[in-house]
Amino acid sequence: MNRRDFLKIIALLGNTVAASRCDIFDEKNETILVVGAGISGLSAAHTLQKWGYKVIVLEARSRIGGRIWTSREWADAPLDLGASWIHGIRNNPISKLAKDNQIEVLETDYDNHWIYGADGNELSDSEYESLDDILYSVQEYIFEAIEELDNDVSLQTIVENAFAEADISPAERASILYLINSVIEHDYAADSKDLSALYLDEGEEFGGEDVIFPGGYDQIINLLAEGLDIRLDEVVQNVEHGNQGVSITTNQNKYQADKVVITLPLGVLKSGNVLFSPALPKEKQNAIHNLGMGLLDKVCLRFPNKFWPQGPELLGFISENTGEWAEWLNVAFYKKMPILMGFNAAAFAHQTESWSDQQIVEGAMGTLRKMFGADIPDPGAWQITRWAADPYALGSYSYNKLGATPESHDELAAPVGTRLFFAGEATSREYNATVHGAYLSGLRAAEEIWDA
Ligand SMILES: Cc1cc2nc3c(=O)[nH]c(=O)nc-3n(C[C@H](O)[C@H](O)[C@H](O)COP(=O)(O)OP(=O)(O)OC[C@H]3O[C@@H](n4cnc5c(N)ncnc54)[C@H](O)[C@@H]3O)c2cc1C
Repeated sequence: MNRRDFLKIIALLGNTVAASRCDIFDEKNETILVVGAGISGLSAAHTLQKWGYKVIVLEARSRIGGRIWTSREWADAPLDLGASWIHGIRNNPISKLAKDNQIEVLETDYDNHWIYGADGNELSDSEYESLDDILYSVQEYIFEAIEELDNDVSLQTIVENAFAEADISPAERASILYLINSVIEHDYAADSKDLSALYLDEGEEFGGEDVIFPGGYDQIINLLAEGLDIRLDEVVQNVEHGNQGVSITTNQNKYQADKVVITLPLGVLKSGNVLFSPALPKEKQNAIHNLGMGLLDKVCLRFPNKFWPQGPELLGFISENTGEWAEWLNVAFYKKMPILMGFNAAAFAHQTESWSDQQIVEGAMGTLRKMFGADIPDPGAWQITRWAADPYALGSYSYNKLGATPESHDELAAPVGTRLFFAGEATSREYNATVHGAYLSGLRAAEEIWDA
């Protein structure tokens, strides 16, 4: 059995396996520090503690969960401002956790999607049909072009080649750019000019539906955090590692341990804000540099009443400037509350992060008024994310940037000696950018410590 199969089985058996190891094996004499109380840090810490290690989790924020962040600012409507979906419930370890603990999930259907043109009108039947045809042709073209590649190029290069070869009207061009933005750039949180074409589709997926947590994703986080020694507001600044063990300096304290699991987001690793001594190996530094940290932001608007259709789960907008306010989740579909959640990714998301809340809301309303009329009400309240500006994330999730390879994830994941271990979504070659990828990476790091 290879390591990947082993991890999948551990994940599927979940707590049962962890508990039986604890029953079988004595308490260990080793102390493990885990840097970061996101899902990867918590899955590593939870597992190691069950296996008998003394574990302390150091978290910079005043809350746990990291990029799983359920806002309870609106008490009647918990909102996931980081991850929302379990992508693919079949055999997914996060689904297993939800199911075993009776946490409610709701199926979502991306095809239940109404799309509006730049003039604000919903597409006609024939326009929907032609958009479907365009999507099919674009996918075919891209996959064929990727198969013929000897060297990597950006996704944008492939799209530009397509534009040069085909006779495309301005309307078709706008539709193609809308589809590339909403289907690919939102998913990878990156601009097509930065996305590796060769490794675009390298990851793996679980099958089955995608689901959301009406009561909040943090229920999974709280489950894993139970019984752990988590120290909040501990901003790790220095990690010294060597034969004698590990010494970590935070803004408040100094900690000694035998081993450490580093789950810092790729954006934080890129920033150099946490110093490693001795410095990380060249291969790991290259991986940190080569992989991309993408950006997806959310704008949640709460209205006095619902003025948009109840039927669709998603609302799309083919804007004149591609990518501006292109995707909306109809939260009312799931929670019966007059809330819309807008998504912006990559370049436009970076642009809006420098705007004030008021400017962002005005921008969003400009689009919604095109779609639903000038007389719709202003929102009474809003919640807005700025993941790139967040010092403990510095972006939303990793992607295969032009210049990176799938091995870059393995290099990021590789332990350094027998003291320093790495987890986090970006260390997952198969499932980067996801909650389940991060969770499985924590199990992998725990297993590496067990084997070390
Ligand atoms: C807007 C958005 C939407 C998403 N949507 C989905 C989705 O629908 N489905 C899905 O599967 N995935 C989604 N993701 C991705 C998913 O949230 C992440 O892959 C996953 O949560 C990452 O977990 P992690 O443990 O690797 O990192 P994190 O959750 O970021 O954990 C790392 C922790 O380290 C802490 N930290 C940082 N710096 C320091 C420091 N110096 N000292 C101490 N602690 C530090 C951070 O505060 C954080 O708590 C989304 C992400 C975002 C941002």
